Amino acid sequence: MAEKKRVVIVGGVAGGASAAARCRRLSEDSEIVMFERGEYISFANCGMPYHLSGGIASRDELFVQSPERMRSRFRIDVRTLTEVKRIDRERREVFVRELKTGREERVGYDALVLSPGAEPIKPRIPGVESSRVFTLRTIPDMDRLQAALDREKGGRAVIIGGGYIGLEMAEALKSRGFEVAVVEALPGVMSTLDPEMAAFIEEHLVAKGVELRLKSAVSVIRETGEGGLELELSNGQSLKCGLAVLAVGVKPEVSLAKEAGLAIGGLGGIVVDEQMRTSDPAIYAVGDAVEVRHFLDGKAAYIPLAGPANRQGRIAADNIFGRKSVYQNTQGTSICKVFELVVGITGFNEKSLKARKIPYEKIYVHPLHHAGYYPGAEPITIKLLFSPESGKLLGAQLVGTQGVDKRLDVLAVALRAGLTVFDLEHLELGYAPPYGSAKDPVNMAGFVAANVLRGDVKICHSEQALSPLPGQMLLDVRTSGEFKRGTIPGAVHIPLDDLRDRLSELPREKELLVFCQTGLRSYLACRILSQKGFNCRNLTGGYKIFQAAAGGLKK
Ligand code: FAD
Repeated sequence: MAEKKRVVIVGGVAGGASAAARCRRLSEDSEIVMFERGEYISFANCGMPYHLSGGIASRDELFVQSPERMRSRFRIDVRTLTEVKRIDRERREVFVRELKTGREERVGYDALVLSPGAEPIKPRIPGVESSRVFTLRTIPDMDRLQAALDREKGGRAVIIGGGYIGLEMAEALKSRGFEVAVVEALPGVMSTLDPEMAAFIEEHLVAKGVELRLKSAVSVIRETGEGGLELELSNGQSLKCGLAVLAVGVKPEVSLAKEAGLAIGGLGGIVVDEQMRTSDPAIYAVGDAVEVRHFLDGKAAYIPLAGPANRQGRIAADNIFGRKSVYQNTQGTSICKVFELVVGITGFNEKSLKARKIPYEKIYVHPLHHAGYYPGAEPITIKLLFSPESGKLLGAQLVGTQGVDKRLDVLAVALRAGLTVFDLEHLELGYAPPYGSAKDPVNMAGFVAANVLRGDVKICHSEQALSPLPGQMLLDVRTSGEFKRGTIPGAVHIPLDDLRDRLSELPREKELLVFCQTGLRSYLACRILSQKGFNCRNLTGGYKIFQAAAGGLKK
């Protein structure tokens, strides 16, 4: 039987509530006290944009667990509207204040779990404190925004920040009848994606009527006489709106930990070991407040997501009660809905691979999410990053309207299992026409990557196609209709079906950079060409990726 302890938990949402419930399941006789500064525990912060959009009609649906139920089912002493102000590590006590009454007390602990989350970053922009500028982290934040949306009933709203919360809010406000502009300081939205993959999201946002202001930072926010806002941008432009939502990221909430002298890492989060223990062995920390290690290279990373927070809460509880439970690091799997698009990512993107000096190769495929002959088949664009030596998966990014979630999860599991692109070729995945293809998109990505590593085809990338070397020549093997609608400057056109008869037109001394729309027909062309003694490369992902990389989609 687990030793009887007094466990104090700071924060009653994802990581905190998960730790509390697991502690009770492991120790029926322990005393478990959970302090939450806000009025609510265990609320679905991830669901808030969908309540604001009207997609989740009832606000009550967001409350996954109530303090009363946590008390009756788990006998957890839940203290809402109570803030933990200080930790006395020597005496193993926390100093708490009830926010309504001002009553203060000291509460002792054998083990303390910190799950205070993160706070929205508020850049020091003049005017950012205006009551018309909103952030979204807590239920009161959501209620304030909801009241403003009800009051304004349309008009213009500006989202500051093009990350996943910003884009979820862009969709929510659009569906509430607002004209929406997204202002993003970086050249593209969703910086977890590589730019050419983000370009598909940008194209979709524009198609949905969202105004995109990229490479523009808000420098001043001014309240106007008419009861609205005027946002001055770094590029000299300005935007008028009724309200603005600030979603430029979060930073770990570490004030308690810092004041208590716990180790804080270079990325600003609480440092924990693999058992989620801080630099004080009696204190654990989990969730958005901590720095983790990246699954792929073991280096420090800050990846604030709900899944890791929940699992870490459980692991902290295990270790408190003597079960050696190890957190196996974070790989950054995330998924987001942007209007009709679904965007998924797992592992490293190119930027992080370059920063870490990890060698990689990349391929793109655009297979249909289920059998083409079954109605409703939609393409998924998959980008796979892998080791050029071993073929080990290093990352995947996916964009599409259907079937993205399941391919993302398969690839996330494959990455965690240390699989290679050769393993992807052999994955046996569920298939019937409404759900997939006999060669699933994940198999397809594996085939294409493995072809490259086996030397069946050499590939090139958009950067090379954009500026071919003097000894190279671009060859477009699409149909005449496709060619007329647009091609890569300087490309010679020979449709695939005519290629065998027109080989004499091609120079043997040049390297041919061959492309089609997606990379499939050009692969077939490369197989013909290389067997006939030509030196050639297939443009992976085809003209579709080229356009995305060259900014053609945004036009
Ligand atoms: P939280 O869940 O934020 O809980 C921390 C709690 O601690 C807070 O309620 C706070 O009031 C309390 N607290 C802080 N300090 C004290 C103190 N001193 N005393 C008492 N209480 C204190 N993640 C995903 O993976 N997928 C998504 O789709 C997704 N969507 C999101 C959408 C939105 C709008 C937001 C805001 C977040 C979203 N997230 C999503 C992130 C996810 O919600 C967080 O990663 C997760 O909630 C972190 O859990 P946590 O326990 O660390 O912190």
